[in-house]
Amino acid sequence: MPIFVIHKHKSRNLHYDFRLGVGRKLKSWAIPKGPSLNPKDKRLAIPVEDHAMSYANFEGIISPGKYGAGKVMLWDKGTYKNTNKIDGKIVSMQKSIKNGKIEILLKGHKLNGGYALVKMQNRKEWLLVKMNDKEASRKNITRTETRSVLSNKTINQI
Ligand code: MN
Repeated sequence: MPIFVIHKHKSRNLHYDFRLGVGRKLKSWAIPKGPSLNPKDKRLAIPVEDHAMSYANFEGIISPGKYGAGKVMLWDKGTYKNTNKIDGKIVSMQKSIKNGKIEILLKGHKLNGGYALVKMQNRKEWLLVKMNDKEASRKNITRTETRSVLSNKTINQI
């Protein structure tokens, strides 16, 4: 099963980096407000550079002066299943990214169930939306879940 991770990243601005293992890379989006469990929320997701698979378990401090300088916490990790279909056939993740439409089923510690990542027309930004399934909820997950799945630390304890 391919993996997903979400880093909570306190650099100039606090944001969440949503990363999907695709091939040998972690395809990544920066989500200023973080993921939501509410299907009514559309969370802005800005594509950022791919990371190496070895970065998946990273937690720590990026030194001042370096790209992304600040604290990085492993907020969630798990596996995902690609559920994006066209005419009843699964579309590869590479093609889904190219087409600007990803549909996945997450199995993490904090996030579970269906999510869609959809690229906005004529723009480089995407939107992350929770699908309406039994994992959907109005719970404010970024507020209630503030600890690392790796160390149990909060971002300020890193
Ligand atoms: Mn980041």
